[in-house]
Amino acid sequence: MTDFTPEQIEAARKVFAGDITFTKGVVSLDTLPPGDRPEIAFAGRSNVGKSSLINALCNRKNLARASNTPGRTQEINFFNLGQDKLYIVDLPGYGFADAPKKNVDGWSRLNLDYLRTRSKLKRIFVLIDARRGIGDVDLNIMKQLDSSAAQYQVVLTKADKIKKSELAPLIEATKAALMKQPAAHPHVIATSSEKGEGLPELRATILSLI
Ligand code: GDP
Repeated sequence: MTDFTPEQIEAARKVFAGDITFTKGVVSLDTLPPGDRPEIAFAGRSNVGKSSLINALCNRKNLARASNTPGRTQEINFFNLGQDKLYIVDLPGYGFADAPKKNVDGWSRLNLDYLRTRSKLKRIFVLIDARRGIGDVDLNIMKQLDSSAAQYQVVLTKADKIKKSELAPLIEATKAALMKQPAAHPHVIATSSEKGEGLPELRATILSLI
């Protein structure tokens, strides 16, 4: 179900089919690009399908890459969509079993500072694997997002991996869990990067924010 008109869906498709370039990867707050345009961010447990989703949204094969190696420098990656219309921000995955100790619940101070200080950050999309549902590590991150500058919204990934009949109950259960989270957007979008499901709605949602 989507609340968007066919015109809005088509307009969003066009923007995402157009220009998108990698701007920079950032490892410290002082090298963030100027916050001169709206931005949306993607967060999620490592292996949730975040790179696949960003690539599928933007119709590119290798725009975002999984950087799953624990201990490797974790960058916040900025992509410039539609010639300075919007930054798409790819946050490092969380939930590594052996994340460095300095990380707060598996997420670095850099992420938390980024989320709290970017005034043009419109929404954080928290990705949840449809097969796993919301886990403790996700709830921990959501708690931290309560004090961020923007609302967050759950996007289910890999919807093609569960049975069609399981999807509606999963969405309802996810919504119910989110009712206890003050900064959560109530609507949940189910996606499959592999089959394309939910991508038009997610694109339109993103454009509706700017
Ligand atoms: P990241 O670590 O969150 O960036 O995750 P990736 O995008 O690298 O995906 C992790 C694994 O899940 C890869 O093996 C992907 O092929 C697989 N995957 C990602 N999205 C989907 C999807 O929509 N459907 C299916 N079936 N597999 C997916």
